[in-house]
Amino acid sequence: MTEEERGAVRTEEENIMNWEEKVKRMVPYVPGEQPKRKDIIKLNTNECPYPPAPAVKKALQEFDYESLRLYPDPDCSILVEALAKRFHKKPGQIFVGVGSDDVLAMAFMTFFQSGEKILFPEISYSFYDVWAKLYDIPFEMVPLKEDFSICADDYCKPNGGVVIANPNAPTGLAAGLSDIEKIVAANPDSVVIVDEAYVDFGGESAVDLVEKYENLLVVQTYSKSRSLAGLRVGYAIGSEKLIKYMLDVKFSFNSYTLNRLALEVGTASLADEEYFRETCGKIVATRERVKGELKELGFTFPDSSTNFIFAKPTGITAKELFEALKKEGIYVRFFDKPVLREYLRISIGTDEEMDRLLAAIREIVGK
Ligand code: PMP
Repeated sequence: MTEEERGAVRTEEENIMNWEEKVKRMVPYVPGEQPKRKDIIKLNTNECPYPPAPAVKKALQEFDYESLRLYPDPDCSILVEALAKRFHKKPGQIFVGVGSDDVLAMAFMTFFQSGEKILFPEISYSFYDVWAKLYDIPFEMVPLKEDFSICADDYCKPNGGVVIANPNAPTGLAAGLSDIEKIVAANPDSVVIVDEAYVDFGGESAVDLVEKYENLLVVQTYSKSRSLAGLRVGYAIGSEKLIKYMLDVKFSFNSYTLNRLALEVGTASLADEEYFRETCGKIVATRERVKGELKELGFTFPDSSTNFIFAKPTGITAKELFEALKKEGIYVRFFDKPVLREYLRISIGTDEEMDRLLAAIREIVGK
């Protein structure tokens, strides 16, 4: 009996098992903990410790609550136009979604359908392999160099697409724009996604390269540098060709992605560039100071260009330190996976929060 014939005579119970078995094979992404307690120092999900821009507060106060009666604009025009202006692009080059997770998931669905393996670094954002498995996209996780940097040549071979987080997470390390351009230029027949969730803290953005390369999609988010993780706004910038295809997929999936409040507030946030730059500057200054203090305490880490430090302690395991800090009400991120389990990913909080973290570490390790 052929496989097709066997399928035709499957019992109802077998069919039920089949979908269930398939779903059971999925290993969902586990986001960092969002504790209910308010009295903790939360350095575990790379949120911004400072409030959103004053223009955001004003937009919330002026928001027309009665408008919630109506569906939002499916084209998200006010936000798309504001982002186009901010990045000197055409509205047709902008795609918006419910956080960059939504934008990335949509991009995987749109561009990685060739059946050829997509490539991404072995240590990177752990949602990439989750989406690949969900959509049955074959993939290869490319090892990093010993210092956690990427080797651009590894991505210059036949593939069904490439995803690079730049700066990378959870390492915090940024690749140079010349490496990114090399990868994009070497792959004219597949789409290269550059995930720039952390670019505003010191990375070099590939946004300007979208004019030169039709196969490049740059994805950014409001969740880190704009202090708006709770609003859920992300966006992609690319050629009109790529954005048109993403919109076709979006409108085949869910037309009303961004709600009315997110559209208004997300647009208002862009009006406060000075506040945005000031906030990023404060986080970078704190990060650089904390790097020095962690070094003194014997930690080693790749040089972070992000709002977190991926730090390896000495004299105590990362897991022990993670648990001891948690007892003190200080939450950092621990990934129980090979290599990663030697490190803690510590988000940059306010100066005061970081001082309390450093004092707790000194207490725990007896320094
Ligand atoms: N990309 C990377 C590399 C991230 O670390 C995150 C945050 N978890 C995201 C994308 C998604 O962020 P958001 O959906 O909040 O925009």
